[in-house]
Order: sequence, then structure tokens, then C-alpha cells
Amino acid sequence: MRKLWSFPGGIRLPGFKQLSNSDSIRSLPVPERVYLPLRQHIGAQARPVVTVGEHVDKGQLLAEATSFISAPVHASTSGVVINIGSHTVPHPSGIAEECIQIEADGEDHWYPALAPLDNIDKATPTELRAAIREAGIVGLGGAVFPSAAKLKPPRSIDTLIINGVECEPYITCDDMLMRSNAEAVLRGCVLLQRILSAGQCMLAVEDNKPEAMQQLRKALDILIKAAEPGAKDIELVSIPTVFPAGGEKQLIKVLTGQEVPAGGLPYELGVVCLNVATTAAVYDAIFLGRPLVSRIVTVTGSGISRPGNYQVPLGTPIQLLLDTVGVIDGEAKLIMGGPMMGQRLPTGHAMVVKGTNCILVNKPQPKMTPMPCIRCGSCANACPMNLLPQQLYWHARGKTFDKLERYQLSSCIECGCCNLVCPAHIPLVSYFRYAKTELADQTFKRQRAEESRLRSELRQQRLEHMQREAEERKAKRKAARLTSKKKTVSTKVMASPAVENAPHSMQVSND
Ligand code: SF4
Ligand code: SF4
Repeated sequence: MRKLWSFPGGIRLPGFKQLSNSDSIRSLPVPERVYLPLRQHIGAQARPVVTVGEHVDKGQLLAEATSFISAPVHASTSGVVINIGSHTVPHPSGIAEECIQIEADGEDHWYPALAPLDNIDKATPTELRAAIREAGIVGLGGAVFPSAAKLKPPRSIDTLIINGVECEPYITCDDMLMRSNAEAVLRGCVLLQRILSAGQCMLAVEDNKPEAMQQLRKALDILIKAAEPGAKDIELVSIPTVFPAGGEKQLIKVLTGQEVPAGGLPYELGVVCLNVATTAAVYDAIFLGRPLVSRIVTVTGSGISRPGNYQVPLGTPIQLLLDTVGVIDGEAKLIMGGPMMGQRLPTGHAMVVKGTNCILVNKPQPKMTPMPCIRCGSCANACPMNLLPQQLYWHARGKTFDKLERYQLSSCIECGCCNLVCPAHIPLVSYFRYAKTELADQTFKRQRAEESRLRSELRQQRLEHMQREAEERKAKRKAARLTSKKKTVSTKVMASPAVENAPHSMQVSND
């Protein structure tokens, strides 16, 4: 039995998981149009390699990665590219970004050139990583960091952690994936462990998902009995259900007892952490040759009639998904993600992207009026990052932004625990998000001002240098003129008969 640690704070929440995890994963009909943003990941935007009017097949490359931290985008169905331009993306601001729009032909025909990786057992880590990069795989737990980049850490890795915790209430897409396709998850783990040469691999699941754990155990037994290389190195770990145990830093603490330092990254401790859905996507890419073109999305909440999990082609309009599940309350709030860390969407016009794990549609709740802070300290007790939320709140509210870093605002993971326990109903996380935006804006302005100061200093130095050079040239020309004048005078004087006959003293004075 593995020893487990606990992280500070955290809260036990009602799960509401049964709303969506009682039926198997359903498929959506092919949408008439899909809208594929060129940036569905952290990092540089992908660059289109198709043109308007071109016919594409499902899985065909539409846009290529443009840097190490970037990911390509593939067609999620077959059809014709009808536009490359701005469209609303899933963001609280309702912002538009560049998307490739495909009008589906209804055939959903796979690109014929796609094929599994050759000779998988002998493939090198570099070849496996390249296949993962080409498949456009990013962290599907919501972080959307390009996986190939995460699999090339700057130091050696001892521990690979596969995150099947899914601690947010309502969300069940990872739970359903582990129940329905445990083998793909486990085979993906083996590949990832090979890439990283990690000594140990732990797959963690919260103890509120017994069916998922059972399926994983069964599948692992089969792989071990079949002597699948690497299978016996996978350790399935059941962890207590406490929010936010699925946070990367919290999970590392629970499983290893180690703390990722403030501002640090897990690889610094020799740990890499990936989500179970990412792991299954790795299996699809390597064993089936399938790039990331769809994902499981939990559609749930009190505001819809048929909650459940759906296999959704990327780029599917969220409104189409809502029409399928039947929204029963027009006033319902739309959230992408869970109730704790999700983002409110102003409209259903945006689309499902690689990071869309859940669409939550809850009936509106009565609004609680915020009251003054009573300094009860509940928020600090609940904070999993050991922060002082009430201090952060005072400084965010008072706009004393310089003090916020002293209280480590940047370490706040916006988990919402402090919000939930605050008896004064202060929307603490909204203050923190506002303060982070202001600080980012100030940093940006400071950098711009610094760049402009440097540019101006360099220009001044350049002008002074040019002026110095011009003066030196002028001085040289003047000196040259004087020398030549003297030579001329001297030659004339030498040539003059009067001088030739002059006394010696007179000739000397002319020199
Ligand atoms: S929980 Fe709310 S009332 Fe209590 S100290 Fe924190 S901010 Fe103040
Ligand atoms: S939102 Fe930030 S400050 Fe509040 S509990 Fe979570 S990590 Fe702590």
C-alpha cells in the first residue's frame, strides 16, 4: 500500500457526478460546419497549410505548429474549407480569433495517408515524441500545453504521474473514458514512461470512481498476463476525494510528499504529470495513427434535460451541443469547465476546442450580496496553496498591486475554495483575476516603457556617435587642407628667386 500525503486546505464538495455518468458515451451526428481555431493550445498559433475552397479529409493537417511550444490543427470531419478568418472562441470576453471553417460533406471520411507508427516496439523516444507532436496532442485536462514539449523536459524524470483524479464537481469525461477504454489509457502510460525513461509510473484516481478503478485493474491484469512490456511498472493509486486533488501541484504532493516550489515546475522535482485523456490520445496517435480531432465532453447541469458524455468533433458549435442535450432553461448560465474553476461563456456561438472537458448549464442561483470581511480566516484555512486570500483581497480591492506579489498572488490557482467558504460571500476569485490582469497589464506597460527607453538611449548614442564621426572627418579634412596649403606655400616660396636669394634667417621663419 503506497503512503499518501495530504495538501493544505482543500474542501469536500458534493460531486453531482451521477447526473452524467450513468449512461455510456454517446456520439454526436457530424455537424454541418466546424470552426477550428488556430490556437487551441498554449504557445504560438498554428499556421494554415490549406486554402479556401480546398477539400479536406478527416484527420488531414490544416495548420502546422510554428514553434517548439505550439501544436498543429487537423480537420475534425471531411468537407470543404469555406473560410479562414475570425470567429468567436470560448472565452469569457466573447473574443474572436482566427479559425478554419469547414463545411462538412457528411461523409466523415478519414484521410487515407494516416497510419500507425511503424514498428512501435522499436520506436525511439524521439520518434514517439514526433508522432505525438504531429498528432496535435495537448494537455486535455484543461491546461492545453503541447504534450510533445512537456515530454522533453530539461532534466531526467524519475516519476510519471497520470492524472485520472477529475476532482471538479459535475465533470465525468475522464471517469467515463477510464471505464470505457482503460486499455488505451494504460497502453498510453507505457508509451509515455518509455519516452521519459521514468523509473515509476502512477495512475491516480479519486476514490469516488470505483467503476473506473475496477476497469483499470482488469485491463492492467490482462496486459500483465500477456507480458506486455512496461505494464507491470504501472501502479494504480486510489486517493481520497478532496478538491482540488487533481491540481498538478496538489497531486504531486499527495503521491510523492514533494512540494513544487512557488514559480517552479514539476520537472524540477523529476516529475511529469499528464491527464488520462491525453494518455489515451497518445495511444490513438501511435497505435491507430489518429490525430486529435475529437474529445469526450461532459454536458451537464440542472438546466438541461439529457446530461451525459458525448464524443464531440473539435470545432463543433457549442450551441449545437446544447440543442442536442436540450436546454430547459433559457436563463441558464453557460460555463466551460467545472463550477469551481470553469469560465463563464457569454454565448453558445463558440466551439468545442481541445481544452473543452465540460459544458455546464446550471439554472441561475439567487445572488448573495457581499458583506464586509469579518476576518474569520476560513479562506486561509481552505486555500490549497497556503496563501492568505483575505490579504490578497484587501490589496486587490485597494489597488495596492505592489503588495500582491509579496502575498504570492501569482501562486493562486483560482480554485475557488476561498470563495466557497467565505461567510461574507465576497467574490474573492473575481478580485484575484482582476488583480492578475491589472498586474499583467502593468508589467506589459513597464516592459514597453523600458523597451522604448532603451530604443531612445540607443538612438541618442547612435546620433552622438555619428556626430563625433562627422566632427572627426571635418577635423581631418581641415588638417589635410592646412597641410596641403602649407606645402603649396612652401613650394612657391622655395621656387621664388627672391627667397632663394634671401638670407638664411628669412627662409627659416617661413617653415
Ligand atoms: S473567509 Fe471571507 S470573511 Fe472570512 S477572512 Fe476570508 S474574506 Fe474575510
Ligand atoms: S482561489 Fe487562490 S487564494 Fe483562493 S483558495 Fe484557491 S489558490 Fe487559494
